[in-house]
Amino acid sequence: MKSDDNRSVTRERMQRLETLLDGDDALRDRLQAVLRFSRKIRVSEYHLTNACNIRCKGCWFFEYGHDTATREAKDLEALEAFLIKETKERRVNAALVIGGEPTLFPDRLKLYVKHMAHVTISSNGLRRLPMEGFENVAVGLTLFGGGPMDDELRGIKPSGRTFQGLFDTALANYRDDPRAGFIYALTENGIDHIEETVVRIRDNGNRVNFNFYSAYDTDDPTGLARQADLLEEALRVRAKYPDTVVSTPYYIRTMITGRSHFGRFGYDVCPSLSQDHDTHAERLVNGNPVLPFFNTWAADLKTVKFCCTSGHCDGCRDSQAVISWMVVSMDRFLESKLLLETWIEMAESYWKQFIWGPFHWTKPAGQRHAVLDVIGDGVVSQVTTEMGYGETMPNPLHAAVPVSPATAAGAKAEAGAFA
Ligand code: SF4
Ligand code: SF4
Repeated sequence: MKSDDNRSVTRERMQRLETLLDGDDALRDRLQAVLRFSRKIRVSEYHLTNACNIRCKGCWFFEYGHDTATREAKDLEALEAFLIKETKERRVNAALVIGGEPTLFPDRLKLYVKHMAHVTISSNGLRRLPMEGFENVAVGLTLFGGGPMDDELRGIKPSGRTFQGLFDTALANYRDDPRAGFIYALTENGIDHIEETVVRIRDNGNRVNFNFYSAYDTDDPTGLARQADLLEEALRVRAKYPDTVVSTPYYIRTMITGRSHFGRFGYDVCPSLSQDHDTHAERLVNGNPVLPFFNTWAADLKTVKFCCTSGHCDGCRDSQAVISWMVVSMDRFLESKLLLETWIEMAESYWKQFIWGPFHWTKPAGQRHAVLDVIGDGVVSQVTTEMGYGETMPNPLHAAVPVSPATAAGAKAEAGAFA
C-alpha cells in the first residue's frame, strides 16, 4: 500500500501534469503513449557468453575480469529452464542480451526469442545475426571512436593479432537492416571523425545513438580535456542529421558532461543496478528511481551482477544507464512545458532503437525528430528542419524553480526503462 507521502507526491505530479498539458491534446497523447508502453516493459540483462571474437581496448568486460568470474552455462535445457523462471516468476518480458558476443551462439539466442516478448542484443557486428527466426530482435552495434579509430581500438583478435575493417564489416552485415542501430562511443580523439562516420551510417540505411567512450584501461575513464569541443561537434552533427542520429540534444549533453539540470550522474542516481544484488539496500531506499525488477545475470545463470555494466561507478558514463536515468526521472522535468516536452522527446527517442516497439523509427510514432535543447548557455537551440540550427530563444531553465524534495523522494520509476 502506498504511503501518504507517496500519495501526495502522485497527486502533486498529476496536478502539475494537468497544468502543463492544459489545452495541448497532442502533447497529452504523446505522454500517455510513452508512459503506457514504458509501463509494460520489464527488462533484465543477460550475459549470454563469456566469449568474444575480438578484444577491444578498454573493454570493461575483459578489463575487470567478468569473463573469468563465472563459468558459462552451455546446456540449452538449463538455459530454457532459467528463462521460463525469469518470465513466470519475475515476469521479465524484455531481455537485453550481451556478452561477450551474443551472435556466437544463435542456438541460445533462439531460446531468448522463444521465451521473451522483446529481445535486444549488443553486438560488435563482425557476424551477422541471421534474419530467419530473429526478425524482431533489435541489434545494437557497438562502435568506438569512428573513422580509423574503430580499428585502432577494436581490430584485435583474441590471439592479439590485429585486423582492419570491423566497421566496414558491420555496415555490410546490416545494410538497410531495420533491426540494427549503431551505438557509437564518442571520444575526444575522434572528434574529426564524427560527421563522416554518421554519414556512412546514414548511407548504409541505419540509425545511430551516441555513447561515451570510457577508457576502462586508464585511471580516469571519463576524463576529457576537450569536453566542450566534443559536445559542440556532437550537437552540430545531431542537428545536421536528425534523421540518422536518434539521440536527443538533452541526452547528448548529459552523457558527455555527466550532468543534467538536476544533478550529476553516479551510483546514487543510476537506475540500472541489479535489484537482487546484496550491496544495494541503501541505494534502493534513497528516493531516486530505479528500473523495477531489473537484474543483470552472469553467463552461469546463477550470479547476479552488480549492474548493467562494469560495476565501477567512478568511471561510468554508460549510455543505457544515462538514458535510463533520464527516462525514470520524469518528475524532474515538470517545471515547465518545455522541459516536459524535452522529456517526452527523450523517452520517445529511447524507444526508437527497438524494432519490437511502437516507437521504432520505421513506425509513425518514431518518425518525429527531437527539437529541443534546453541546457544551452542561456539559450534553447532549435535543431529541427522547422527552424535552422543555431536559431535561439530564451532558456526557461534560467528561471526554473528547483524540484521540491518531496517530489524527488516520490519519483519511483514512473516510466520503466531499458538498461
Ligand atoms: S566486442 Fe564487446 S565484449 Fe567483445 S571485446 Fe569488444 S567491447 Fe568487449
Ligand atoms: S557502474 Fe555505471 S551503470 Fe553500474 S551502477 Fe555504477 S553508475 Fe550505474
